Amino acid sequence: MSKGGSENLCHPERSERSERSRRTKKDYDVIVVGLGALGSGAVYWLAKRGARVLGLEQFELGHDRGSSHDHSRIIRKSYFTPAYVRLAKEAYTAWDALERDAGEQIVFKTGGLDIGPRDGAIALSSYADSMRACNVYFEELDAAEIRKRWPVWQIGDDVDGLFQPDSGIVAAERATAALRRTAVAFGATLRENAPVTLLRTVDGEIAVEAGGERYRAGKLVIAAASWTPQLLAHFDVHIPFEVTKEQVIYFRARDLASFAFGGFPIWIWMDDPSFYGFPVFGETGAVKITQDCGGKAVDPNTRGFKEDPEITARVTAFLEKHLPAALGPIQRLKTCLYALTPDRDFIIDTLPEHPNVSVAVGGGHGFKFASVIGRILSELAWGHSESCHSERSPRGVQSKNEVLDLSAFKIDRPILQMADPPKTYML
Ligand SMILES: Cc1cc2nc3c(=O)[nH]c(=O)nc-3n(C[C@H](O)[C@H](O)[C@H](O)COP(=O)(O)OP(=O)(O)OC[C@H]3O[C@@H](n4cnc5c(N)ncnc54)[C@H](O)[C@@H]3O)c2cc1C
Repeated sequence: MSKGGSENLCHPERSERSERSRRTKKDYDVIVVGLGALGSGAVYWLAKRGARVLGLEQFELGHDRGSSHDHSRIIRKSYFTPAYVRLAKEAYTAWDALERDAGEQIVFKTGGLDIGPRDGAIALSSYADSMRACNVYFEELDAAEIRKRWPVWQIGDDVDGLFQPDSGIVAAERATAALRRTAVAFGATLRENAPVTLLRTVDGEIAVEAGGERYRAGKLVIAAASWTPQLLAHFDVHIPFEVTKEQVIYFRARDLASFAFGGFPIWIWMDDPSFYGFPVFGETGAVKITQDCGGKAVDPNTRGFKEDPEITARVTAFLEKHLPAALGPIQRLKTCLYALTPDRDFIIDTLPEHPNVSVAVGGGHGFKFASVIGRILSELAWGHSESCHSERSPRGVQSKNEVLDLSAFKIDRPILQMADPPKTYML
């Protein structure tokens, strides 16, 4: 648990505040609900840019009941649309900013291998085309080359791969702790164990009740992941949404040396089911591997934390077939929630009827983007940023280098208007 969370710890004196900061003790420019990765990204960027910001978290900071705990997440530029690739490129830049402010390394490059059967359920070509469109360097590997580089792969000649050297690991818990700690250093106030129970608009501002206190702010950011529907309901906004309980498995691989950090990439098996894994990272002494989106739907308030033996069985069967050297005793198993829109695309938008309310949902693949989504949320809530020359436009957010097209992430896109939409969870 982060120790920087208490409200009392959070205020270095701020002699010069923005002119927009004209509020009393409990009033803020922006209130952020939820302090997982995305909300922590928002409080970091808002505080960095001079907003008086309050972050509210219903549980203790760094808890394990949402989506952002555990020590690693995959980061990669390899994505299936140019919009995601551009967002990923900006995410690296935004993590760089945090690394400078926090004085510690957050992103660890290992290289990344997208690998799968040529006629598999996920087309590698869409990833290759999107990277090409965004000038991202990558290599196309055939099965022989994959076996030559990483002999632990047992694959037939029908398997292809893409290798992108910038892929790697975001040190997840370290990242969210650094976002919050640095936000506090920039003047943010963070409260843990403060569940938001009421949200309403009053005189153009947002009134918030949380943990027995009332607050007012000009702008609100909702970064509540699995609890998003409950919070949106305060504004009479309803979207189709599903929460699943996922699990990651740490195997003490029988050939641990072949999976050493620096010698083995992060990887994603691009088929249905899809699996992914990490080299040995940090102090774990194990490889972390699991199935993507293999879990069952749950209620985030009543979900359990026990193993899903069906996921374990599917992962084990996959490893026996394609990566047997990774198998070994299970060292530990952790569960985590995916907060899923039906198309699994993000939500990054303001509410059409309440433009002072922004919302972000990371769709079960959002951690790598927490740095840039936090920055975009700060821009949606707080306006332009000189530091990144960004500007909100109807199309999206313009940064120094690229136009970030956010149209796929709108909250009023057609699939989020449907009562019973088709679900597409494959990435
Ligand atoms: C097993 C697993 C593996 C993953 N792997 C990857 C990966 O490799 N790469 C990647 O990029 N992404 C990955 N993801 C997805 C990524 O971790 C999530 O998209 C990201 O962590 C979401 O962050 P969040 O802040 O939206 O959610 P959360 O961390 O759940 O934060 C939401 C917060 O809001 C709080 N909250 C909710 N309601 C209230 C309220 N009423 N009042 C106050 N607080 C409230 C919650 O308590 C919670 O802390 C993975 C996710 C899982 C589960």
